[in-house]
Amino acid sequence: MIANYGFKDGSGDWFLTLDTDKCNGCGKCVEVCPPKILEIGLDEIDIFREEPVASVKSGERKKIRYHCAPCKPGFGSELPPCVAACEFAAISHSDGWKKSYKGLRQKV
Ligand code: SF4
Ligand code: SF4
Repeated sequence: MIANYGFKDGSGDWFLTLDTDKCNGCGKCVEVCPPKILEIGLDEIDIFREEPVASVKSGERKKIRYHCAPCKPGFGSELPPCVAACEFAAISHSDGWKKSYKGLRQKV
């Protein structure tokens, strides 16, 4: 299943998307996330799933735009730490950050 963590407002879409079918709960993304907003736990969407899965901590979802900004998802050639750490490509981000840094990319 697809789980979206974050929010949308007038400034854009700010979501971390997790494909829970690809996630095995290994925790590598949790270890590398600088502000420690990820965690491993029970699947909130599929209550019948027994295996642990990654998610964004509930108290951090409204702040995800600012938490993830230093990682600049979609901006540069380097992947955000969470995306790079996941060998199953379970994590992706919406384009809010990408658009936010678009003008900056043209200057560098
Ligand atoms: S690194 Fe990937 S597979 Fe491992 S817990 Fe994170 S999202 Fe799931
Ligand atoms: S983009 Fe950075 S701050 Fe956001 S979840 Fe990934 S590692 Fe953590």
